[in-house]
Amino acid sequence: MLLDNSKKIVIKLGSSTVVDKKGMFKSKWFLTLINDIKKLKNKRDVVIVSSGAIALGQSYLKVRKKKIKIEMSQAIASVGQIHLINHFKIMFEKNKIKIGQILITPDDTEQRRRALNAKRTFENLFKLNAIPIVNENDTTATSEIKYGDNDRLAARVAQIIGADTLIIFTDVDGLYRDSKSKKSLIKEVNEINENLFSLADKKINTLSSGGMTTKLDAAKICINSGCKMFIANGQHMNPLSRMVKDKIFTCFNPKISTLHARKKWIISSIGSSGKIYIDEGATVALAAGKSLLPAGITKVEGDFKKGENILIIDNKGNEFARGLVSFSSLEINKIKGLQSNQIESILGYSSKSEIIHKDDMVKL
Ligand code: GLU
Repeated sequence: MLLDNSKKIVIKLGSSTVVDKKGMFKSKWFLTLINDIKKLKNKRDVVIVSSGAIALGQSYLKVRKKKIKIEMSQAIASVGQIHLINHFKIMFEKNKIKIGQILITPDDTEQRRRALNAKRTFENLFKLNAIPIVNENDTTATSEIKYGDNDRLAARVAQIIGADTLIIFTDVDGLYRDSKSKKSLIKEVNEINENLFSLADKKINTLSSGGMTTKLDAAKICINSGCKMFIANGQHMNPLSRMVKDKIFTCFNPKISTLHARKKWIISSIGSSGKIYIDEGATVALAAGKSLLPAGITKVEGDFKKGENILIIDNKGNEFARGLVSFSSLEINKIKGLQSNQIESILGYSSKSEIIHKDDMVKL
């Protein structure tokens, strides 16, 4: 049966999946999901990533406006998150299952040390037999630094903990060839390309901030990190059993990857703080597995610090690789196009000659 071989499963629940139109937590529905989780064969490590803090906060505080300013939504989420986690606690306790709460910001997944710390916390929660319940830490999320949707957050969590399955429950059966008529569900996807993105319904429901596009972004992360991803309908009772039994979903198959965990982390970054453009010579050298040197850099875009994850754009304008830079954008702007032995005299201090070392780089 589907999921029989899954050992580590992340289940993502959107706001409209856990909160009804009146702003109430869907307790009855949620109990059927817990029953499904209990029925999963063998002992599984399960993580739940759930939205709903803002939706529950809004109904509790009687704030009805649809478009709320980010500062206000942060405060509303801080009220709603207590309600959200409390519902989870009550529901799981009824079933004698323990839970833990993890609130995450992009910094926690995009900085390697913090990501490893988070990974350890997840692993220890599994040892304690407690199900981690994850949401974005909305309090510190600003418009520039936030996931904003839990789809990509769930995928990044799945990648960091080495999950083999991510299930995104939403209010449709999956990705359709024709999103308007909701006809012709795509059952299986092996490659994510522009064509697929053009099928994504841009419509976002009233409670969430994601949509099909962020789900495809999440699928990209999963495909590169060896994790199967499903989009399935969470509006039905017993959503997990229904999904397994009726086989109604879109499944994204992962690439067979020999990448080490660290490189999977690099390639799955959501960071977009910078881009480095390279010439033809550097493109050939990088394709042959070499490190990136200043000589091949033609342009730098964005403002980034040493250690950040940036995109390398080849001479034809394609996204070619991702990597952790050993210099800031300011420094690279001073030494781009130069030979490595000129670095010290220009910067005034001696340092490495690789802008991005091959061990810190993954080709896309
Ligand atoms: N973190 C937000 C919440 O809990 C929502 C993010 C999303 O739309 O997925 O309300």
